[in-house]
Amino acid sequence: MITEKLMEVRSEIENSVRALLARPVMVTELDVFALPCGCNGMTVNIRGLELDDIEVFEEQMLSHFREVASRLDIPPSFIFARLIPGSSVVAAINWRVLCDRCYPEFARARGKTPRPDIYIMHLERRGDKARKGKMRSGKM
Ligand SMILES: [Zn+2]
Repeated sequence: MITEKLMEVRSEIENSVRALLARPVMVTELDVFALPCGCNGMTVNIRGLELDDIEVFEEQMLSHFREVASRLDIPPSFIFARLIPGSSVVAAINWRVLCDRCYPEFARARGKTPRPDIYIMHLERRGDKARKGKMRSGKM
């Protein structure tokens, strides 16, 4: 049952971030989403996490986040933190599988903060692989 898996992953993420930071952090909600454009993924709403924490423990968090996503069959191609604009408070961590229309919007961005509310932890560039795929399917 998918909900059992989600419950497990919710508390696992909470525990691993707590262990890293050695202070209480709460994952208040874990959501799986699908958007009309074709984007899909998972959102983890979190309380008690700051951007500084991510910057310091980015590698450890990322390797755990990747592992968790693959267990839920979510390709960990794009992982970012959503910030409360104008602050360093992290509201959520997002795993998003970008559709072809939304991908360029983020791929164009340079640096880790393309928008004041987004801090990119990981973005897989599509490059040659995506272009070859398009040629094969005959779309330009
Ligand atoms: Zn999209």
